[in-house]
Formats: sequence, C-alpha cells, structure tokens
Amino acid sequence: MRVLVAEDEVKMARAIKRGLEHEGYVVDVSSGGTDALSRAKEFEYDALVLDVMLPDMNGFDLCETLRKDGHWVPVLMLTARDGVEDRIQGLDAGADDYLVKPFAFGELLARLRALVRRGATERPTVLNVGDVVLDPASHTVDRAGRAVDLSAREFALLEFLMRHPGEVLTRPRIMEHVWDYNYAGFSNVVDVYVGYVRKKLEQPFERPFIRTVRGVGYAVGVP
Ligand code: CA
Repeated sequence: MRVLVAEDEVKMARAIKRGLEHEGYVVDVSSGGTDALSRAKEFEYDALVLDVMLPDMNGFDLCETLRKDGHWVPVLMLTARDGVEDRIQGLDAGADDYLVKPFAFGELLARLRALVRRGATERPTVLNVGDVVLDPASHTVDRAGRAVDLSAREFALLEFLMRHPGEVLTRPRIMEHVWDYNYAGFSNVVDVYVGYVRKKLEQPFERPFIRTVRGVGYAVGVP
C-alpha cells in the first residue's frame, strides 16, 4: 500500500509518515499543494492524506482538480477546525472522508484502512438503474421522472446499492459503507432503512426496486 501524505507542517508530516510506515505502508510526503497534485497524478497511490492548509494550493482545490482530471484515488482530508463549512467544502471537492485536527493516530489509521479497502471507484455524475435515477452531485432521486425525497442516510444506502447494480450486498458490507463502522453483533438497522427506502421508492409506484436475497442481503438491478 502506497500513500501520499500532503502536509507542510514538518513535525506532523513526519509523525504521520512514521506511524504509517510502522503499519507497513509505503509513504511519500509532499509539503506543497502543486507538488502533491503532480505526484498524485503521476503515481498510483492507494490513498492520499491531504491537509487542507497547504502552501501554493489548498487541499480543496487540489482535490477538486484531481477529480476533474479523472483521478479517483481515495482522499482523506485533514481539516483544522470542526467547521461544517469545511466538511461540506471538502466533500464537495471530492474528498472521501475527513479528519479534524488534532486527531488520534489510531483514528487516522482506521479511516485510511477503510478507504483503501473501498478503493478508488470512478464516480459517474448520475447513477441509473432501471427507472431510478440518482444524482450524487445534486442529492436527488427520481423514479419514472417523479422526485423521491430521501433522508441523508436513506440516500446513502440507495446510492451504495445503485453503485453495485446486479450485485448482492451483504448487511455487514452495507453497514460498513453506509454507516462507516461495524456494529458489534446483530443489528437490524440495514433492514429498517431498506424498509424506509422501499416505502418512498416502491409503494407510490407500486413496483419493487430493491430485492431481498434471503440469508444474504440486498440487491438492485439485473443480477
Ligand atoms: Ca498544513
């Protein structure tokens, strides 16, 4: 696993590098935005740890440029404040996750592992499965041309299913991606949320969309 760390604070960069190397990652450090951008384009990293505050090009612009150029390396953004604005801006720019400074190294590791496991997936602007259209950019869903109003979590669940059309997704896998952590032991939260989505996406249209695969999980689209 090769990770690029874009951070100009020497002490912080060194600490992250040392910690990640200890975990077996190969780590490159970049102390400037434009340098990090060209490295990220040139090499195939498994993840990018990106500080927002960088000289010559900030993390938001860097991430946005990277995505616009079609590079989908998973990005973990480091923000200085726990500001909602920062988070929204980061996610809008195409970051996959963010961490607020100061953070525990263990958390950085856990998030990085999750990102690397997920891998880089090309994100099409609009997802289309059957007669359902989901637009991640505008956060809208419609079925047969009619708008369907989903909560943020319902949206995330549907988006995850629609990113894997024809694939049966297990409950633990859905949990991990949509809720971003593993529930210890049994939890029916996935089933509950599938129920919510069905109520809005299926009932008014009187036809199914999400298939239940008994004993395994859920799927959408043609198997
Ligand atoms: Ca910095």
